[in-house]
Order: sequence, then C-alpha cells, then structure tokens
Amino acid sequence: MPIRQLSETMINQIAAGEVIERPASVVKELVENAIDADAARVEIVTAGGGLNLVRVSDDGAGIPEDELELAVARHCTSKLSTDIHDIRSLGFRGEALPSIGSVARLTIRSRTADGDGGAEIAVEGGHLAAVRPAAANRGTTVEVRDLFFATPARLKFMKGERAESTATADIVRRIAIAFPAVRFTLSGPDRSTLEFPASDAGAGGRLTRIAQVMGAEFPDNSIAIDAVREGVRLTGHVSIPSYNRANALQQYAYVNGRPVRDKLIASAIRGAFADVLPRDRHAVTVLFLTLDPATVDVNVHPAKADVRFRDPGLVRG
Ligand code: ADP
Ligand code: MG
Repeated sequence: MPIRQLSETMINQIAAGEVIERPASVVKELVENAIDADAARVEIVTAGGGLNLVRVSDDGAGIPEDELELAVARHCTSKLSTDIHDIRSLGFRGEALPSIGSVARLTIRSRTADGDGGAEIAVEGGHLAAVRPAAANRGTTVEVRDLFFATPARLKFMKGERAESTATADIVRRIAIAFPAVRFTLSGPDRSTLEFPASDAGAGGRLTRIAQVMGAEFPDNSIAIDAVREGVRLTGHVSIPSYNRANALQQYAYVNGRPVRDKLIASAIRGAFADVLPRDRHAVTVLFLTLDPATVDVNVHPAKADVRFRDPGLVRG
C-alpha cells in the first residue's frame, strides 16, 4: 500500500486512543475546560456510567459563536500562544474536543457575556454539523452521548457501569480539591449525588474543601505541611499514622494546581511513612507542590496527568 495522509477523523480517533481512555477521561477534560474558562459553578451529569451520557455545564467565559468550529478542530486552543515551557492552564494541547467528537456524539452549546445569543455545534463520529443559534445562559454546556460508538473496539474494554461511575467520581474529587472556590455537583441515574459547595479560595477554604472530599474526620486526623526548599514549596495535609487505608487511592497530589498521578511523589510518600506504617497500609495525603513552571514538564502524555521534574532529587527530598 502506498503512503497516504490519514483522514482528519482517523487522526482524531488515534489521538482519542490516548486522551480519552474511558468516560472519566471525558469528564476530566470537560471539567478542566470549564475551570480554564473561569467557571464558578460546574455541573456534571452522567448516565450509564458516562457511556450513554456525560454532560458538563459551566458558567464560565463561553465560546464566541465564530470560534465554535475551531473549538472542535484539532490543535486549536486559546490557551497557548508561544511558550510551551510556561503553561498556566489545565489544557493546552487543543486535542480533547476533536478527540471526543471523533468517537462519540458531541454537542457544544455556549454563550459569552457579550454575545447576542447562544450558539451550538455538533460533531458525530467526526462528522461536523453547521453552527446554529441556540438559546443558552452565559457559559458552556458540553454533552457527550454514546461514547466510543464510532470505535467499537474501545467500547469492548469498558468495565461495568458501576466501575466507570466510580472512576468518574474519583476524577471529580481529585479536581475539586484543587479548586475550592468552584462549586461542583456530580449527579445522574447511575450514581448518588456528590456536591461540593464553593468555599473561599484561601487556606481555610482549601481545608473546608478537603474535608468535603475526604470526610469530616480527616482534618482532625492529619498534620498540616508547609515547607520550602530551593524554590520548591510543599503544602497540604498528611494523615497521622493511625489513620490509614488498605490502598493508596486516597493520596492526592497537585503540581502547580494540576492534579497529577506521579510515581515519584507516591514513592516519596511511601518512603516517608515506611517507619510508621506496615507495608500493606497507606497514608491518606493531599499534597500541593508549587515550583517554577519552567522546572516541570507537563507535556509528557496527552492525558496531562504525568509530569517530569527537572530536578527529581530535590522534589523527592
Ligand atoms: P484545550 O483545552 O487544550 O485548549 P480543548 O479541545 O479541550 O483544548 O478545547 C479547545 C478550546 O475550546 C479551548 O482552548 C477553549 O478556547 C474552548 N473551550 C472548550 N471548552 C470550553 C468551556 N467550557 N468554556 C469556554 N471555552 C471552552
Ligand atoms: Mg481542554
């Protein structure tokens, strides 16, 4: 077969293979977009574990009607201008919406503060429908139906409705801890409702949100951390040894406000607790690392949950 350029839809589906692993990834990408748009309220609804429906509504900046088509085009972003080493938003790759649109039925309805009315765009399995007017409040509502209908091989890998619902709740908790001033709700016929009312953005608000997410007894069973070394600041809360878990699921880590799953941080936590916890027990931790964005690379994987530190030894220490 001769060499040929892949179609737009196939390129997006290949990208979707990495960005959109399961319904929880859709929720993660859409909620990140809402936060990047400065939303104060983010409302998430799912059905069928998110495979039938994921809907995320926000009261953020909205997308101007004449940019809706760009929003679903690959490598189009309003967040990165010239410097890949100075990323301050959660998104920057311009990949999530086109990826979702290539594997599901995607509708985006949005209205900006100065826009006359709302507008809507739809993409189904990579096929774009024309932008049309639609009644909307200020902000954006993104609806994703029939996830992976266009890529049945991926659909076969989905766990049951229950497992997918749980994965979504975990993602929402993880993000909610980082943004205490934002109100989050997660509801739907496939779950019991999660609701995190807005707190203030300071340290007090952060602890309130941590208690909302981790349980009211966590603050009393944890120690506050605040340490700085060579420009790296570590804040947050770690459980006292008697308050521990059978797995490491309740270890939340953030790098410059971005939720991450980082092996280095996980192993540093294990090391720190090695003397006080048996090997099969795990601390409950919420840790925020703040460092110069130029010394950490978030462009490691399309899902943006991995990071690489320029000085891993320093961060581990
Ligand atoms: P990225 O977030 O990496 O820029 P996405 O594909 O997730 O890429 O989104 C593309 C663009 O669409 C964003 O850069 C942003 O301008 C716009 N957008 C997406 N979701 C929202 C939202 N909820 N509110 C406002 N703008 C949005
Ligand atoms: Mg995004």
